[in-house]
Amino acid sequence: MILSTETRVAAFWTDPDFDEHEMVQLVHDRQSGLTAILALHSTHLGPGAGGTRFWHYPDPAMAMRDALRLSRGMSYKNAMAGLPMGGGKGVILADADGRRTPEMLAAFGDAIAALGGQYVTAEDVGMTEADMIAIAARTPHVTGLPSVDPGAAGGDPGPYTALGIYYGIKAAVAHKLGREDMAGVHVAIQGTGSVGGGVARLLARDGARLTLADIDAPRAANLAAELGAAHVAADAIMAVECDVFSPNALGAILDDTGIARLSAPIVAGGANNQLARPHHGPALAARGTLYAPDYVINAGGIISVSLEYLARQSGERCDIGRVHAKLREIPVRLTDIWNRAGAEGRSSDQVADAMAQALIGR
Ligand code: NAD
Repeated sequence: MILSTETRVAAFWTDPDFDEHEMVQLVHDRQSGLTAILALHSTHLGPGAGGTRFWHYPDPAMAMRDALRLSRGMSYKNAMAGLPMGGGKGVILADADGRRTPEMLAAFGDAIAALGGQYVTAEDVGMTEADMIAIAARTPHVTGLPSVDPGAAGGDPGPYTALGIYYGIKAAVAHKLGREDMAGVHVAIQGTGSVGGGVARLLARDGARLTLADIDAPRAANLAAELGAAHVAADAIMAVECDVFSPNALGAILDDTGIARLSAPIVAGGANNQLARPHHGPALAARGTLYAPDYVINAGGIISVSLEYLARQSGERCDIGRVHAKLREIPVRLTDIWNRAGAEGRSSDQVADAMAQALIGR
């Protein structure tokens, strides 16, 4: 069935993923071939901040859904991290070859500049520090830029995201298993990229037992060899019998099938939008699984790049100690959410959503 433009537009505002976005912009630059979406969910607490994803989507509707869900997630994430930032997200629709040119990045920078600081971008999946430098040539509203000062915040947010998740996993193990140390605690890690790889290295230092998986199988195997960990095929990781399942790849993995395969009493990892649908949070709670709401546990990167951005805007130096102090709030916030969930008989994602919505005035 082919829907008219009017019908599609009308349906857009009532789509639950739209969720009262303040603005959604479709960007096309004919000269460079850039096709992108800029989504601004809320500027209630400050400029919408959230990374840009560079990804090939077989269907552009999937890109729109990703942009909307990720942008709303950033509103919630920034609010819950106590940052004076709203929520937004950029998605660049890559072609099947993943072609990326300086002209495309320049056009993307111009589109961000045109928003006059309402949206601030940084790295997300498929984007690099070098891409941020290219975008920064066209707009000051970009962060995650490398710092020449080793004591100052800056650069790739991945390691900070990983550190926040590591603190969150330790808090979850303390809360659910009553264990204060990670020695011998079995963690199954899905995705061994920037975030998952960082989490694995931090946990290995503490003597945790690790099982790793990645669709890039050699990547997982190499890291496993380096850390003395086990590795399994990507489609086997959710069924591994372990204490913690840590999803650090792509979203929507906690659906009916995924949840049925889980045996871990804890799910705590950095992937955005892990719950496929709202009922999957209560479904996890009903099974007795302790779930760390994704946007709370994975806020380390946005904490780093936001503090870097705010300092640069006011001409100050952002000491790295300020970032570390804020990362230490992540496990405290998670424990508060789990305690409230237990006391109120609600799932942790419901509690976190209600707290975030109150903070952004929704
Ligand atoms: P990355 O591209 O460095 O790593 C992702 C890894 O996951 C890759 O190695 C990829 O091969 C693997 N992967 C993809 N699909 C998989 C699957 N089905 N099974 C197993 N492995 C799979 O990305 P990243 O920066 O590590 O981000 C990982 C996740 O964390 C994403 O969901 C991202 O949105 C989220 N996140 C990242 C940051 C950050 O600072 N980088 C911050 C917050 C959230």
